Amino acid sequence: MSFVAAFDRLPFASLLDRAHTAPAAEARRIASSPDSPALADFAALLSPEADSELELLCRRSQEITRRRFGRVIRLFAPLYLSNECINNCAYCGFSRDNAILRVTLSPDDVAREARELASQGFRNILLVAGEHPKFVSNDYLAECTRAVHGIVPSVSLEVGPMETEDYRPIVASGADGLVVYQETYDREVYGRMHTAGPKRNFDWRLECPERAYDAGFRRLGIAALYGLADWRREAIAVAAHAEYLLRRCWKSMVTVSLPRLRPCAGEFQPLTLLSDRELVRLVAAFRIAFPDIGLVLSTREPAALRDGLFPLGITHASAGSHTEPGGYTGAGRDQLHTTVRGRVVALGGDHGPGAVATAQFEIADNRTPAAVAERIRRIGYEPVWKDWDAALTA
Ligand code: SF4
Repeated sequence: MSFVAAFDRLPFASLLDRAHTAPAAEARRIASSPDSPALADFAALLSPEADSELELLCRRSQEITRRRFGRVIRLFAPLYLSNECINNCAYCGFSRDNAILRVTLSPDDVAREARELASQGFRNILLVAGEHPKFVSNDYLAECTRAVHGIVPSVSLEVGPMETEDYRPIVASGADGLVVYQETYDREVYGRMHTAGPKRNFDWRLECPERAYDAGFRRLGIAALYGLADWRREAIAVAAHAEYLLRRCWKSMVTVSLPRLRPCAGEFQPLTLLSDRELVRLVAAFRIAFPDIGLVLSTREPAALRDGLFPLGITHASAGSHTEPGGYTGAGRDQLHTTVRGRVVALGGDHGPGAVATAQFEIADNRTPAAVAERIRRIGYEPVWKDWDAALTA
């Protein structure tokens, strides 16, 4: 059974009931002896009463993380290839109807950006692109993957969902990880947020990690984007998805990201709130209920909160991120344009020589990678720049 079929059979009503009514005593019981399967425990840890046990949950989460993963935080950087997109996603600056400055980097420019990131220490790079077959073709993605894999050993992608067969050349070019956020697992909200383009197909996106696994990816990343629908329901859906992938895609590492909406072009306002304290509890709940998943924290969150979360359960973190193509070196600035109905439109005279491509969203932790690494060392952890090599699965 695919996750789409399993998803439609999830007992959301009873899980949500637990996520709202489980007593604090249940959280204490789970912290000392979690059940397996873990989804019902996970839901109980989200209840308002479980908040009174936050300290205990954080301690437990930290212990489990140290035992499973050691005292290390694996660092990576996103490298944006293109901000062209044929979709309209209400919350994203790259949406096709936003009149933003766009560019698609050439493979040479991508290599230049990757060399800059490698000089900062990174050995793990996430290639990110909007979804636009005219600018971001499958061949282009394979070529960029090859270029970056010649510079760093670990390359992941966060791009529009593809067919299994289309992923294979990208895996053959050196990519080992695929990240695909479902954004929201609420079908009704999903329909309202995605008003145009192939991303409207909820099920096609939901099945994407399985297709990626079948093509040979050995790290699968999933997430909900918190701020679109009820956070408890979203978290339960992500947990169910992770639980399914751990079984179905057992040769892969499964990672869960915890992104909250950030300001972007188009100025979309979050529809729901996940507070800092609730985010902390979410990290602990994922770790206690699912000890083997990787937990990813991006620069969407401010430095002080990230520093507090690092030792609680986080295994992977980005640092020094830019969310615009060419952000690390200025590559591609001479190619900036707007795009109207898929046609490139040259810039008018009102854009000076300092113009840069529009970013996907604002980041909140503006520290350099070196500063983040130093902070990780100061809290007694080791920053790890390289956490994967093809030799591991050879
Ligand atoms: S979220 Fe992704 S698919 Fe949607 S507009 Fe942004 S880049 Fe395009």
